[in-house]
Amino acid sequence: MSPMIPFRADLHCHSTCSDGLLTPQELVQYAKQIGLSGLSITDHDTVAAYKEAIPKALELGLKMISGIEFSTLFADIPIHVLAYSFQLDHPSIQNYCQKHIERRHTRNLAIVAKLQQQGFNITYDEILQNAAQRASQTIGRPHIAMLMMEKGYVDSMQNAFKKYLGEKGLCYVPGTPFSTEETLQTIHATNGFAIIAHPHLIPKSSTVKRLLNLPFDGIEAYYASFSADENNKWVKIAQERNWLMTGGSDFHGSIKPINQLGSCFVNEETFQILAKRFHENENI
Ligand code: AMP
Ligand code: ZN
Ligand code: FE
Ligand code: FE
Repeated sequence: MSPMIPFRADLHCHSTCSDGLLTPQELVQYAKQIGLSGLSITDHDTVAAYKEAIPKALELGLKMISGIEFSTLFADIPIHVLAYSFQLDHPSIQNYCQKHIERRHTRNLAIVAKLQQQGFNITYDEILQNAAQRASQTIGRPHIAMLMMEKGYVDSMQNAFKKYLGEKGLCYVPGTPFSTEETLQTIHATNGFAIIAHPHLIPKSSTVKRLLNLPFDGIEAYYASFSADENNKWVKIAQERNWLMTGGSDFHGSIKPINQLGSCFVNEETFQILAKRFHENENI
């Protein structure tokens, strides 16, 4: 008899379809290999991973639910919103993802122009070529950072963000993400769950306070390598509201070595709530 492995589902990770380093198939395989029972791939502003990931998960016996991480703006403050259990090819999701691709295109061009002004020999075509090789649907700052590393302009991803691409960097462009409110409406139009992603990382408590007045369905209470004490703060807030408490590692591969797949997870009971809604929405 095989030993009973407790059910663990990591609900936050990224594939090559956005800025992760593993392909959707590799990610599913890796999740199975480390003993996870469930997974949601939450790429930035795209659900492209699911086309490959779902057949692979079925083959390996790994349970999957739909997921995505939207970049949003809450009164000028960047806020990430996770969505789960929506129907993958729902037109509202598909249209929203398309709008994100377009806004990222405009932003990336502006970032590249700023880098060129700084004297870097970088073109948007090179970034597009690298992204196409990885089949990335959404192209973000990590893609630009990777090219800067490839060309020897920076020695690490961290330094690319610190010096040039991050909020305090020389070539920072905020872009124009859609509002948090509009994002929640889109998610709810698809009958999905809307979750505040990694509240641990929101700098101001006044922002959190205002954010908690929006019609979210849950909080990502268990995140990455935060301690039980730090997570408990968010567990309490979710419990007070009778909201879902989700959890995940935010795994991207070796570019973010602290975020190890499976380092944060939900149990079977929470996963079942999300899976039930996913199957209802997908009619399966
Ligand atoms: P974007 O979607 O273009 O706004 O880029 C945001 C992504 O960049 C995040 O999801 C992270 O994966 C990555 N990122 C943000 N800040 C840093 C940092 N300081 N170092 C490395 N990666 C970062
Ligand atoms: Zn990312
Ligand atoms: Fe995030
Ligand atoms: Fe993430």
